[in-house]
Amino acid sequence: MPVIVQKFGGTSVADLERIRNVARKVKKEVDMGNQVAVVVSAMSGVTDQLVGLVRQISSLSTPVSLEEYDTVVSSGEQVTAGMLALALNEMGIPARSWLGWQIPLISDNAHGKARISEIKSDAILQSIREGNVAVVAGFQGIDGKFRISTLGRGGSDTSAVALAAALKAQRCDIYTDVDGIYTCDPRIVTKARKLHKVAYEEILEMASQGAKVLQTRSVEMAMNHGVRVQVLSSFSDAEGTLLVDEEEVVERKKVTGIAYSRDEARITLTSVANVPGVSAEIFGPLAGANINVDMIVQNVTEGGGETDVTFTVPRADLQNAIAVVEKSRDRIKYKTLHSDNAVAKVSVIGVGMRSHVGIAQEMFKTLADKGINILVISTSEIKISVLISEEYTELALRALHTAYGLDTE
Ligand code: ADP
Ligand code: ASP
Ligand code: MG
Repeated sequence: MPVIVQKFGGTSVADLERIRNVARKVKKEVDMGNQVAVVVSAMSGVTDQLVGLVRQISSLSTPVSLEEYDTVVSSGEQVTAGMLALALNEMGIPARSWLGWQIPLISDNAHGKARISEIKSDAILQSIREGNVAVVAGFQGIDGKFRISTLGRGGSDTSAVALAAALKAQRCDIYTDVDGIYTCDPRIVTKARKLHKVAYEEILEMASQGAKVLQTRSVEMAMNHGVRVQVLSSFSDAEGTLLVDEEEVVERKKVTGIAYSRDEARITLTSVANVPGVSAEIFGPLAGANINVDMIVQNVTEGGGETDVTFTVPRADLQNAIAVVEKSRDRIKYKTLHSDNAVAKVSVIGVGMRSHVGIAQEMFKTLADKGINILVISTSEIKISVLISEEYTELALRALHTAYGLDTE
């Protein structure tokens, strides 16, 4: 009998009526003769609340404090897993909850953003084969020292795809509060269009540039293990979006989607000595402090002299990054350090970029026509990102969406 994995996000399990609604969706699969594993998130808002609680008592600066962070913030999923198992039992469907450690879903010890290393699926598979629905608490696992770990915000998507791979599931259905993946966040761009199929590479890039509809690692995992993932709505029966290989997408525009991230901050160092090794002096210690530098620009000056260096870091790491750079001031020899956390990154994405030229130019012109200044640019084979002032995010998204012909009629 085929195994199906279903995943329900925070809004889908936000209250009792919604949990019952989820139970009905699970029952439908069971009634069709499928064996089912369900992965749930915490009720919407709960994880944020738990993170808030932790931050009031800890600066989270030690490895041990991150282990306790995981102990606290993983708890929201324990509640919903138990509640959904209860709702299913009330409907006469045998079901039991599984916490990360009970499966076990084993991760590394990078607490707060752990990576899954292995899922030992024997016990859960046996329970499923015996006719029980497995209700799995998403987002959580256990490290090599038997400490609870969490997989990074939005991590239940990755729990679901990893479980689908481990169980060799026929499908992994990700149910959320929108009915698929759109050309841009439909909550901001009302003219966004639903994509019926999207290439793994494209949604991987969209997710990593900020589209929160899927956690980036879940897409990576689906791509590497060939998991058939579908994104669809918990609240309607509309057809969703299927992740497919690039060759399977027939209708192809120059740009497939537009993503944005407000999770950015900019640092500029002025009058940095333009000598070999200076970049290593700046970025080495940042990497050492586990701070992920994203965009970088440095001017080339003729024959040595001085130059300005600008780069971006996650907004939550800005203060930490400034402290790290200031510690190396003697070696970097910059004149001033400026920072700005009211910036946003807007990215246009599409495999069509491999065969079309002029896409960057169109982006720059569209933003210029709206009077939006570009602070930093970075590109990859299928993506162009620009850093802009945060206040223009929505204007930029809508203007670009129209310019690339993505609007619905
Ligand atoms: P869940 O709690 O179900 O995991 P999330 O809030 O993590 O839900 O993800 C769904 C949200 O992702 C949507 O409500 C939507 O605002 C946002 N989103 C951002 N970009 C896109 C996109 N391109 N297509 C669809 N949704 C998007
Ligand atoms: N509850 C976790 C979060 O809010 C995991 C998830 O929703 O995927 O990040
Ligand atoms: Mg999510």
